[in-house]
Amino acid sequence: MVDKIACKAVIFDFDGTLADSMPFLEKIGVEMMMKYFGVSKEDATQRYRSTTGLPYEHQVKMNFPDHPKCETAITEFEKLKIDRIFDQQLFEDTESTVRELNAMGIDVFVSSSTFQTTIEEYFRRLGIENLFRGILGYRPGFEKGADHFNHIHSEYNLEFSDMLFVGDSLKDYERSQGFCRFIGIVGMFSSEDFKSKGHSGRLVQRLSEITNHVIIG
Ligand SMILES: [Mg+2]
Repeated sequence: MVDKIACKAVIFDFDGTLADSMPFLEKIGVEMMMKYFGVSKEDATQRYRSTTGLPYEHQVKMNFPDHPKCETAITEFEKLKIDRIFDQQLFEDTESTVRELNAMGIDVFVSSSTFQTTIEEYFRRLGIENLFRGILGYRPGFEKGADHFNHIHSEYNLEFSDMLFVGDSLKDYERSQGFCRFIGIVGMFSSEDFKSKGHSGRLVQRLSEITNHVIIG
């Protein structure tokens, strides 16, 4: 039995947290870096992973600043992504976990680096958009992290201290700092990886474990 985190809202990252989409996204993300920037697969994979959790636009521009092929690579990635993103499955325990949190009286949000229209459409097609109090996607100037947390605070009247963010990437942890508590999902990154970034808090192996860690606050 672990001490429960009292909260009013759980905010989930999407790719790699609610949806098993990271193998697909990493594959096309790495392919674009190899194709347009002439880097090896190993180099591209390292560059992709070290920036994963950010919009691809930022991943490319951070890795290849001012490179003339940036916009081409970003555009092609987004096209490949939209072609296949709706084929990516939720993890098998995603829907039950979200339903259980709802039953506990906890609001559930999605905070994603995927475009707003895409992320909303994804859940609409599954017919479960109503399980979420809010679904927040990316547009320039409105990102997972400070922008989304501030939006949830002001639009939904929730204190940062009542929020818990759950994500699978080191960038997710970094972006929760100074705002709210964080639980990391181990998979793409190990517990050592999260600790190396200063995360001394909780980590889970599976999404369904989250309900053991929280209580309505
Ligand atoms: Mg993720």
